[in-house]
Amino acid sequence: MIKAVFFDLDDTLYDQLQPFLMAIQTAGIGGLFSDRLQIEDLYKRLRRHSDRLWERHVSGLMSLEELRFERTAAAFLDIGINISEQTALQLQQNYEREQKQIALREGVEPLFEQLEACGIRIGLITNGPVEHQMIKIRALGLLNWMDEQAIYISDGIGIAKPDPEVFHHVRLQTCCEPERLVYVGDAWHNDIVPSYRAGWNSIWLNGRLQQPRAEESDVEYMECRTINEIMPLIPSSGKSETGCLL
Ligand SMILES: [Mg+2]
Repeated sequence: MIKAVFFDLDDTLYDQLQPFLMAIQTAGIGGLFSDRLQIEDLYKRLRRHSDRLWERHVSGLMSLEELRFERTAAAFLDIGINISEQTALQLQQNYEREQKQIALREGVEPLFEQLEACGIRIGLITNGPVEHQMIKIRALGLLNWMDEQAIYISDGIGIAKPDPEVFHHVRLQTCCEPERLVYVGDAWHNDIVPSYRAGWNSIWLNGRLQQPRAEESDVEYMECRTINEIMPLIPSSGKSETGCLL
């Protein structure tokens, strides 16, 4: 039986596109785009560049500020728009401000209630600076649902996804076998591959219809498009021998 479900934060428990759309608007650059789809395309590219540059940041080759500027400039360049460093910085500042007003995705609270009813613990594993992530965690009210000890932030523990060591570390702290643990995340590279490599059950919340990397075809995972599809994927959660009434 599953003992605990850990979640990624950004773009898993809340929709990261929403604060990004607001940040574009308040930066006064909405007119650069033909429609919302183009902004979503830009956002996906920004995420990909962010993942690509993350390892350089973790290994000390690039500051977080440099990463934020480079990912933004590279994503805009991909869609044929040149932006100044000043605009990129303004966009980042607006994005950080909008992230303080984020809300949990629809279905997250009912999912937490169902997990609690099944006696399954809830936690978080997220990459980023501790205070920056904690601002979002507080804004989302997540401390009402999980112990602070069940929240693992990369800068706090000194290891970051996609290093599978993160998942080994959390497993040891949780005192569970890896097959008793589930990880839910939106990013193939940072969430699904390393949690699988650490022996966990991996659920890919793939609402943006991304493709897995062909060279990682050995990775086993479950997949869904929305939060509401997660509970039936939790191994054994619907079976009577677990003692769960749901
Ligand atoms: Mg994420």
